[in-house]
Amino acid sequence: MKLLRRKFEIIQEQAVRELPYECCGLLVGEKNSDHRGNIENIVYEVAPCRNCLYFGKETGFEISHQEYLDVEREARRLGYNIVGSYHSHINSPAIPSLHDVDFARSGHTMLIISLMNAQPKAVTAWLRRESGGFHQEQIRVVV
Ligand SMILES: [Zn+2]
Repeated sequence: MKLLRRKFEIIQEQAVRELPYECCGLLVGEKNSDHRGNIENIVYEVAPCRNCLYFGKETGFEISHQEYLDVEREARRLGYNIVGSYHSHINSPAIPSLHDVDFARSGHTMLIISLMNAQPKAVTAWLRRESGGFHQEQIRVVV
């Protein structure tokens, strides 16, 4: 996946601001696929969302269906699509939970930022393949 540096900073800032809860949001951009069918999601905009879980926001997140649709509408107006989501893990590694795996849509990137002692510590990205499976992907931060 490819992400503009400034957008990456927005995610980091949001993750720290929303402590002690997990933050979440959607990634907006476009999907590139090469002749072999390899997918790379390119993120142009990030859309911070509300973690709408009632309980357990320290260890989980949920984006409401309504907010997803709102972001999707805005994305399409810009000629983009939702290409994935992001959220934070508090004092735990940037590895997807079982719930995370279920949340990820096929073809989408899931970016996870891990915070240790209130500091961003690690970032990983995971691609849900159309064919099934969940694979870690490289994050290319560009200026
Ligand atoms: Zn998670």
